[in-house]
Amino acid sequence: MLEGLRNKRFVSLIDKESGVVINVFKGLKNDYLVSPCRLCTCTDFLIHFVQGNRRYPCYHVIGFYIAYKEQKVVVLELDRGLIKDIVLEIALQGFSRTLRKILG
Ligand SMILES: [Zn+2]
Repeated sequence: MLEGLRNKRFVSLIDKESGVVINVFKGLKNDYLVSPCRLCTCTDFLIHFVQGNRRYPCYHVIGFYIAYKEQKVVVLELDRGLIKDIVLEIALQGFSRTLRKILG
């Protein structure tokens, strides 16, 4: 968890126009769309939580909760076009090249 907080892996993308917030966990290899305290697109979440054999969701969902509390979330205000690119890249390729470019 500390590694994630230290390496700025918890990222909130805010749509400049609408204010819609999309949360992304930027992993080493894969990025995930996360709804803090609720849902994540990682395999760990999907397998264990959806099957109902575990009470807590996954590292990313809990991590976001902590990152928010400790104010360690990286907040990026972006144009809708960029956010769309990032979400599509994560959904289709498992990671976002655009997000990596922005964060450097
Ligand atoms: Zn997850």
